[in-house]
Amino acid sequence: MDAIVIRGARVHNLKNISVDIPHNRLTVVTGVSGSGKSSLVFDTVYAEGQRRYVQSLSAYARQFLERLSKPDVDWIDGLAPPIAIRQKTFARNPRSTVATATELYDYLRLLYARAGETYCPGCGQRVQRDTVDQVAAKMLAQPEGSRWYVLFPLGAAKDSHALRDQLFELRRKGFYRLFQQGRIYELTRPETLLEVDFAQPVYVLLDRIAISADLHQRLVDNTETCYREAGEVVFLEASGEQLFRFSEKFACKQCGIEFLEPEPQLFSFNSPFGACPRCHGFGDIVDYSPDRVIPDPYRSLDEGAIDPWTKPNYRHFYRYYKRLWGRRVRTDVPYIELSEEERQLVWEAVRESFEEIGRKKYKVHVRVFLSRYRGYSTCPECGGSRLRREALWVKVGGKNLAEVMRMSIGQAYEFFEQLELPPHQAAIAELPLTEIRQRLKFLYEVGLDYITLDRLTGTLSGGEAQRIQLATCLGSRLVGTCYILDEPSIGLHSRDTERLLNILRELRDLGNTVLVVEHDADII
Ligand SMILES: [Zn+2]
Ligand SMILES: [Zn+2]
Repeated sequence: MDAIVIRGARVHNLKNISVDIPHNRLTVVTGVSGSGKSSLVFDTVYAEGQRRYVQSLSAYARQFLERLSKPDVDWIDGLAPPIAIRQKTFARNPRSTVATATELYDYLRLLYARAGETYCPGCGQRVQRDTVDQVAAKMLAQPEGSRWYVLFPLGAAKDSHALRDQLFELRRKGFYRLFQQGRIYELTRPETLLEVDFAQPVYVLLDRIAISADLHQRLVDNTETCYREAGEVVFLEASGEQLFRFSEKFACKQCGIEFLEPEPQLFSFNSPFGACPRCHGFGDIVDYSPDRVIPDPYRSLDEGAIDPWTKPNYRHFYRYYKRLWGRRVRTDVPYIELSEEERQLVWEAVRESFEEIGRKKYKVHVRVFLSRYRGYSTCPECGGSRLRREALWVKVGGKNLAEVMRMSIGQAYEFFEQLELPPHQAAIAELPLTEIRQRLKFLYEVGLDYITLDRLTGTLSGGEAQRIQLATCLGSRLVGTCYILDEPSIGLHSRDTERLLNILRELRDLGNTVLVVEHDADII
């Protein structure tokens, strides 16, 4: 069957139409309005395709779907599974963004989990766990013949009794030497241990090595032993000059803080694990809104810049705080000219006064009064990124996920095209990175380069929403499907029409049937 064969279609105003629509081609259905283009394409081809798809499902699955009635047509055959791309069909999920609707976000999460580098917020250093092989490689790179102690720290004991048990246990395991401040103490000669200051860091001496090319296995064994005993290994040059400390913990070596290892969940604002705890992943919170409390920032405080304090019941707050501030807040210059410190004092006072007023919340007019000054504002904890802090410490190519989400599609396209990952990361991150690049390319090609990734889909125009769906379909690379579009050129600049046509041709060349209802002469 190389065509969709329709015989005797009479849906709505169709007058017994018979037509063949070829497969794997781009077909435009056109005509004056009211001629029945949509009746043929949507109400006949799409409706029947859907109905047959639903019928092919099990009785169990069918009970969850609405019953579709058979369109008024004598005979129709050669249908492919239809996908309709209408303008404005996004579900009204308030959290849905361009990135989530296109599945870009899923691949970004995967990319950040696999190739993300965590940076310590305290000192800015890269947080890493040192693998045994990395440790061995680092030590083999030291000058040939240089001599090193291999040590691991002895954990602090809570009292002398516990310490005795600890030392006994070490001997039982076959460790015989302690190390402190360049001196070695034999566990077999307890009298020497009296000189050890157990209040200071003490190490267990595992081995003494001289760097040579054939040392790899011994370094690996030493490191594994130290990791097993203490989770870290210390190499101290015998001359005392250099010290290397490696840890199997995912921690900042400078600050000693342990970090969460990146995993896809950490970057999901829809999951309780990844969502910002303050705004629960919405990016904004209901709070007193600066715009409402101070509607005209060009007024001075004396002129009544703080709206709630101009009401007869609450004027006393202004008199009280003005006296309290003294010279710390200038009340005779426009609010907008106040310094950061002055504004902070003002806001503390405003909050205090609201709390005071709120004590009478049982009175309806008080609740109404307070609600007048509340509004949505950007969550101060996550800065609107919706993610918990820990997720924002992870970077790819020097940018965290929130910074990427604020990029426009054009900027993100360039960023990921130019992104070069170190070889070991490139291998494990190849799949998500390829998907991200491809999806951004499609979005770019449908002329949406100016839209930011965090744009809420609810705020897109119908044409933009349709093109985003198109790009997503291209990204999913389905074949043998019948794509049905309703006037896709609406809202497009003429230069973008050519781009759109390229996409439709690309969909067709993948092995799909594309059916377009259109007036636009360029498309036709
Ligand atoms: Zn640090
Ligand atoms: Zn937040």
